[in-house]
Amino acid sequence: AAGRLKGYGAGYRRPGKVSSAIASPIMDETYCNGVLVVDSDSRNAFRDGDIKVVDLFANQIAIAIGKRRVHDATQKRLSDLEVVSKASSRLLTSLDMETLIGLSIEGIREIAPLDAVFFLKEEGGYRPIKSGIKQGREAVCSLEGTLAGTAANDRQENYISNTSRYPTPVMPSGGKDIKSALIIPLRCEDETLGVFVLSSPLADAVRSGEITLIKLLSNHVAVSLKNALLHSEIRRQAITDALTGLYNRRHFNELIEGEAERVGRGGRPFSLLLIDIDFFKKVNDTYGHPAGDAALKEVSSIIRKTLRAIDHPARYGGEEFAALLVETGTDGAFMTAERLRRAIRRNAVNYEGKSISITISIGISTCPVDSASESEIIDKADKALYHAKKTGRDKVVTWS
Ligand code: GH3
Ligand code: MG
Ligand code: MG
Repeated sequence: AAGRLKGYGAGYRRPGKVSSAIASPIMDETYCNGVLVVDSDSRNAFRDGDIKVVDLFANQIAIAIGKRRVHDATQKRLSDLEVVSKASSRLLTSLDMETLIGLSIEGIREIAPLDAVFFLKEEGGYRPIKSGIKQGREAVCSLEGTLAGTAANDRQENYISNTSRYPTPVMPSGGKDIKSALIIPLRCEDETLGVFVLSSPLADAVRSGEITLIKLLSNHVAVSLKNALLHSEIRRQAITDALTGLYNRRHFNELIEGEAERVGRGGRPFSLLLIDIDFFKKVNDTYGHPAGDAALKEVSSIIRKTLRAIDHPARYGGEEFAALLVETGTDGAFMTAERLRRAIRRNAVNYEGKSISITISIGISTCPVDSASESEIIDKADKALYHAKKTGRDKVVTWS
């Protein structure tokens, strides 16, 4: 628009009259950020060269504005990434599932103010976990027929900007006020670990940049959860006997130590049962070692079924078992031991069509009446067991 204005106004006021002007757009790729105008009150004030100069300046301004924009966007992205990075680092501080999920939810809330539930995959379904105050353990539920379930099955996240368009509920319960939801299944390798349901009572609550960051954080959460699962599995293996699934001797001794300390602080008495299979060598010699193993499994299963859930059964050695009966005196322990002895005698072990009869002997001691010390309590149960063996087997003997 060099030269004369030909009937157009300049679009701004200045002292004097605008008779000629050069206007050059300040372009950011295809978007116009503004216009640089150079004017004069003389007609035909500019030459071709002037247009080039103004264009050059307009370009320089465009570049400067562009740089500033990229810089601001980068700063924003860096601070967003810093939030993700800090939240990810916090995940390294724990191996406890619920703590990890709580930390993850805090991290997500720093990115976007959403309500969050994590559905942790467990046997038989998903257990909902919310952050904050520890509520009681919620029951395992099914995600079938919900958008969370579909996302978990398809292993694909889903953002619903307005749930009123969907007939399917977002999650099994408590989702009535949800207007928008971001559903992210967590996987590690090929395993589904659970599903995040992040929601808001407002429609269009999550921006696409926030979704990217939340997904980024979710990847870290998945790795941390997998790590915690591995850790708890390793811990479980470390305290259980592989053949029977009962506690092993080392862990059992720790349990006794803990209980003895509790009694020392005025807690209720507990009793210890030492259980040994009678003539087990004969079982091995007659039916073979695998049959012996099957008998050990059967005996441990009967022990487990006969005791209360709060008691602690263990495999104490080869064909020796032990049980810690909490808050149980000698009389109660004797009754339980008798029930166990009879149950074992009644239930012959079936192995490859052969019926193998088993009996057990049991020695009992009680803390603190027989002794308050952990090692002495074991020693006394062992002596009682020895007595049961020496006086005929298939019987229960208390230290007292
Ligand atoms: P008692 O009535 O005096 O206890 O006689 P017993 O034969 O049971 O006693 P002993 O302690 O002499 O023998 C225990 C046997 O248990 C020896 C061993 O071969 C067997 N045993 C130990 N651990 C295992 C195991 O894991 N599997 C099998 N099949 N046998 C085992
Ligand atoms: Mg033995
Ligand atoms: Mg034996």
